[in-house]
Amino acid sequence: MHPLLQLAFDFFDPPAAQPPKTRTPPPAPPRRSRPVAPPTAGPVVPQPRLDQILEPAAFRHPRANREAALGASVVAFEFKRARRRNIGFMVGPEGLVVSAPNWVPLSEVDAAVQSKAPWILKKLGDASDRRRRMDEARIEWRDGASFPFLGENVIVVLDPRHASAGAVLNTAGEALPGVARHMLHVGLPHTASEAQIRDAVQAWLMRQATRIFTERLDHFAAQLGVRWTRLLLSNAGTRWGTAHSDGRIRLHWRLVHFRMAVIDYVVAHELSHLRVMDHSPRFWETVATVVPDYARLRGQLREEPLPPW
Ligand SMILES: [Zn+2]
Repeated sequence: MHPLLQLAFDFFDPPAAQPPKTRTPPPAPPRRSRPVAPPTAGPVVPQPRLDQILEPAAFRHPRANREAALGASVVAFEFKRARRRNIGFMVGPEGLVVSAPNWVPLSEVDAAVQSKAPWILKKLGDASDRRRRMDEARIEWRDGASFPFLGENVIVVLDPRHASAGAVLNTAGEALPGVARHMLHVGLPHTASEAQIRDAVQAWLMRQATRIFTERLDHFAAQLGVRWTRLLLSNAGTRWGTAHSDGRIRLHWRLVHFRMAVIDYVVAHELSHLRVMDHSPRFWETVATVVPDYARLRGQLREEPLPPW
């Protein structure tokens, strides 16, 4: 019996950043980390000092138990003892996590944190930029809200006349010279709740996803000489796509937010797994035969934050 192999794991977020490997860390700088002081009712300071008003940039992990002054920034990080051979640094969405084996003294951990300061500050800055862009992208579901579809902006228009059809996309001539205006007429009354509007748009997007993915799967399967058997739309989870050796392809419906070239990359990626199971050079060569600029598209998929749904 042929085992079902789950082949592809493609993530929404880039994996938590790992610092570049250094063989010989530079000598420890003089500044030291210190444990985070528990909040105490200290003496009342009548006049705030200037450095208290002008706070340095601060990065605080929600489970921070140690902190370091890195340049002008205070970095409060989670420190863990772990079964490992060296000191590990990881910057994730929550902040910096440092782990060290039991035998490494704290002074050495602190020195290592200082020696990695440029890398840590760069990654923390990137992570907070990403969070800010995500917040800005948050959609307020109401008449006039907009969302991305195939890389274009679509405006929601509540339109009870379309009640039977669900939702209909209209592209009006040119609102501005050279700029088409896409409007999704959603068959809901003006009194519809945010959740109702979001669900109606999601149902429409999922129908588009099925149509578009099927068309692109057929297109690339022919080019790659593979046979896909079934398309499944995924919703939860952190993967853009997976492929099974029996030809089942699972794609996340939210891929339809991206422009077609990005969708094509993911479709070609999963279909290429029907020829090469791993992510070996031979796999990427296969992808490149149908999507030559896959590296750039892959980067875009990682960099462009989607609005939270
Ligand atoms: Zn893959």
